[in-house]
Amino acid sequence: MAERNEPSATIEALMNEQRTFTPPLEFANQANINSPSIYTEGEDFENFWAKQAESLLWRKKWTQTLDWSNAPFAKWFIDGKLNVTESCLDRHLADNGDKVAYYFVGEPGDERAVTYRQLYEEVCQLANGLDSLGVAKGDRVAIYMGMVVELPIALLACARIGATHSVVFGGFSSDALMDRINDAEAKVLITCDESWRNGGKIALKGYADAAIAEAPSIEHVVVVKRTGSEVPMKEGRDIYYHDLIKGQPKERAATETDSEDPLFILYTSGTTGKPKGIVHTTGGYLLGSSYTHKAVFDIKDNDVYWCTADIGWVTGHSYIVYGPLANGTTSVLYEGVPNYPDEDRYWEIIEKYKVTQLYTAPTAIRTFMKWGTEFPERHDLSSLKLIGTVGEPINPEAWIWYNKYIGGEKAPIVDTWWQTETGHIMISPLPGVTTTKPGSATIPLPGIGADVVDEEGNSVPFGGGGYLVLTHPWPGMLRTIFKDPQRFADTYYGRFSKPEENHWVYFAGDGAKRDNDGYYWLLGRVDDVMNVSGHRISTLEVESALVDHPDVAEAAVVGRNDPITGQAIAAFVTLKGHVVGTEQLIAQLRNHVAEKIGKIARPASIVFTDELPKTRSGKIMRRLLKDISEQRKLGDVTTLANADVVHDIAARAAASTTSQED
Ligand code: ATP
Ligand code: MG
Repeated sequence: MAERNEPSATIEALMNEQRTFTPPLEFANQANINSPSIYTEGEDFENFWAKQAESLLWRKKWTQTLDWSNAPFAKWFIDGKLNVTESCLDRHLADNGDKVAYYFVGEPGDERAVTYRQLYEEVCQLANGLDSLGVAKGDRVAIYMGMVVELPIALLACARIGATHSVVFGGFSSDALMDRINDAEAKVLITCDESWRNGGKIALKGYADAAIAEAPSIEHVVVVKRTGSEVPMKEGRDIYYHDLIKGQPKERAATETDSEDPLFILYTSGTTGKPKGIVHTTGGYLLGSSYTHKAVFDIKDNDVYWCTADIGWVTGHSYIVYGPLANGTTSVLYEGVPNYPDEDRYWEIIEKYKVTQLYTAPTAIRTFMKWGTEFPERHDLSSLKLIGTVGEPINPEAWIWYNKYIGGEKAPIVDTWWQTETGHIMISPLPGVTTTKPGSATIPLPGIGADVVDEEGNSVPFGGGGYLVLTHPWPGMLRTIFKDPQRFADTYYGRFSKPEENHWVYFAGDGAKRDNDGYYWLLGRVDDVMNVSGHRISTLEVESALVDHPDVAEAAVVGRNDPITGQAIAAFVTLKGHVVGTEQLIAQLRNHVAEKIGKIARPASIVFTDELPKTRSGKIMRRLLKDISEQRKLGDVTTLANADVVHDIAARAAASTTSQED
């Protein structure tokens, strides 16, 4: 550990989680991958990925696996020709046409099973419909919908005709939609009349109309009837989805695309800065998403797999649409929130459909912890063979809770680290091979190269913390930022690359430490790292120490300016169930952190709150808590899911003593 007041270049590693979980023998014996030799195979990453790429349906095989000569702009599977929908749909028809692709579960309770043949036919019908609206190969189509079956159909119909889709999460405002349509210059928008959310209706078409009023590129709007409410339809511009596909042939030849043609643009959620249009292409992306889906979730033919993300996020693109469909998987597609009509909705769905793999987010898991164990305990969750998480670091106690109450202490947990930019999972256990440790995403997948480096880009020895980087290209990597290649190169390859030495390193924006076994522990965004008396401390470690206390469900900490220590740690804590926040509990929690990870990390102040401010994808938004702690005017709250809570927290913070330090 660095001396007091002596700034250290990297991030300190304070937590010392010692529990380990080896894959149960029974699981390992039946796993798709059960030999550690796969990691050695992955070292020759080009050949590794070339071998895996045989699993896709190519029209014309590639002549070269990787072209990195124009780094940092990568090309994978040069000259390869394919259409992703032929891998995702056509090839399943002969043997698995009647297999269910999606069990759709509507929030109000309506349910529908869609087979691969039905999915194929409706995708073709919509593809024909888009043709009739004049959408051509390379055109952009914006998609702004709720989680209904027509949403994956819309993505696939675009892919069928070689158009580029740009999905905008249905919880975003009309301004956010407008910005994204304008940046992509989308020609057509596909939306819904309304969507169901938490028992209420969200006026998607209304928001869409407001956005289009200032988005001149839109020529047509296709509207899926979901709730059936009357919505304004503009003559000549707007058309109902069912009218568009009515009478359209249930066949539509797939347009041949190049391996490097764009498949989609997806804007990063905007937790930080102006949204970036992340561009993903065809062959490498489909390979990365399908290979990792099968390997990490150990997908088998008869599984019923459920990823609870929204298709508006990359997790939904890769692990509800492209990965699972390429693998011919049966998925659950759920429209609504986890607490409608009651806090056991997820568990009810798992019991009913005998879900075998569940993939969800730490934010959801911590919320379930807060609600209490009675809800999962109402249901038989024994069908679950494996459970996964993505989106934020998972605090070890949340991991343990997930393992015990959801996984029944038998289902391996896969904590998967990746980003919109990476396209698919990068760091994660292979459930039949890798020993897990609660809170660690473990090690890079085969074929992926990662490192933890210091300020100068030198690899940090095991046991230390620093910046997480990716050391060589991977198939599903982003190719550029739409219309802004310079910003792409600067943002992701500017910090640690040495162009003069032709040395290219992708910097992910996250901090990580590596333990003595080489396991990666994600520490959150480096922008959030606090500097207390010269110690660079990650928010995650203090938060995890707080969540380790039996009364705490969730915690967020930030560094607020302090004249003596540089920054002081301000904590915001949500308690479990009916626990009451008292002065005594504050003292207890401060001691708990001191014992768990050291006095230096003890919060200077703790405020109890019913909720934490979160982005629409459910991630804690620390910069607003920093504004509150430093009594500044609040920054931009438009990407916040629960804007009201920040005012409530600000009031509580002002009322509590500013410093509880002894
Ligand atoms: P924006 O880039 O717009 O600010 P975002 O980074 O939240 O938003 P995503 O691409 O969905 O958008 O999320 C990727 C980030 O989520 C990672 O960089 C990391 O910070 C975090 N993350 C994802 N999975 C994990 C994980 N398993 N462990 C730790 N952190 C994770
Ligand atoms: Mg990001």
